[in-house]
Amino acid sequence: MGYILRAIDESEKIKISVAITTDVVEEAASIHKTSKTASAALGRVLTAAAIIGSWQKNEKDSLTLSINGNGPGGKILATCKNDGHVKGFISNPCADLPVRESDGKLDVSELVGAGDLTLTMDIGLKKPYTGSVNLVTGEIAEDLATYFLKSDQIPSAVGLGVLVDTDYSIKAAGGFIIQLMPGADNSQVDKLEENLSKINGITSLIEKYHDGEEILKVLMNGFNVKVLEKRDISYKCDCSREKVIDAIVSVGPKEIEEILVEDKKADVTCHFCNSHYHFDEEDLEKMLDKAKSLNS
Ligand SMILES: [Zn+2]
Repeated sequence: MGYILRAIDESEKIKISVAITTDVVEEAASIHKTSKTASAALGRVLTAAAIIGSWQKNEKDSLTLSINGNGPGGKILATCKNDGHVKGFISNPCADLPVRESDGKLDVSELVGAGDLTLTMDIGLKKPYTGSVNLVTGEIAEDLATYFLKSDQIPSAVGLGVLVDTDYSIKAAGGFIIQLMPGADNSQVDKLEENLSKINGITSLIEKYHDGEEILKVLMNGFNVKVLEKRDISYKCDCSREKVIDAIVSVGPKEIEEILVEDKKADVTCHFCNSHYHFDEEDLEKMLDKAKSLNS
């Protein structure tokens, strides 16, 4: 089980969340059978969605982070509900690239390509709130920091990392988001920058400490920090046969009639968990009746 620690420094000018998501990313990688680079890209997006999702207030709130790039990986999307369940997918899980020559790291940036990052927050209003920025590097963390600055005017430091083992298992995954509230002073910023300059990525901290509170201490060295919440995070899809039926019914009687004439069956696979749902002619007739009654 993964978890997120949400904390604040005693001046209440610096908010920080630290996530350990090794198990979450492992589950995602095993469901989607991702390449190494795709594991890293999807894992970063899942981790970021889980952190931002943990800031939601109401039970039914949900958050979706999508990265729409033109690279070989295609679209990457993750959704996190307020109950700590996160799920996601990458359009081309098999896409892979050689490790980057400059730093020996998995080349997430090339896998993602150029495009945009979109955050959608559904907090039960008529329309969900959506914000978007162009991708800066495609490494996800920098792109998210840019989003917070441009969209929310909040200076932020974001770290996201996934360490993939030679056997494709996930050795470590996690992330952090540090945000400066209005009134944070220069000495606090300097101290934070000094702390961040000393670390060599979030995954090396997870490998070394295996503990969110210890990582929090390293990132916030020199600050008095209070942990506000520890929240469990797990990879879980909430799809069901009933939900798929509702979705098919909602497309309308005309479309269902077409399926009945052409295929006499429907097969639906969930993007998030690869669960397969098969509907035969009889199932479709029932859905058609339901769709007709809703449309009449
Ligand atoms: Zn599913």
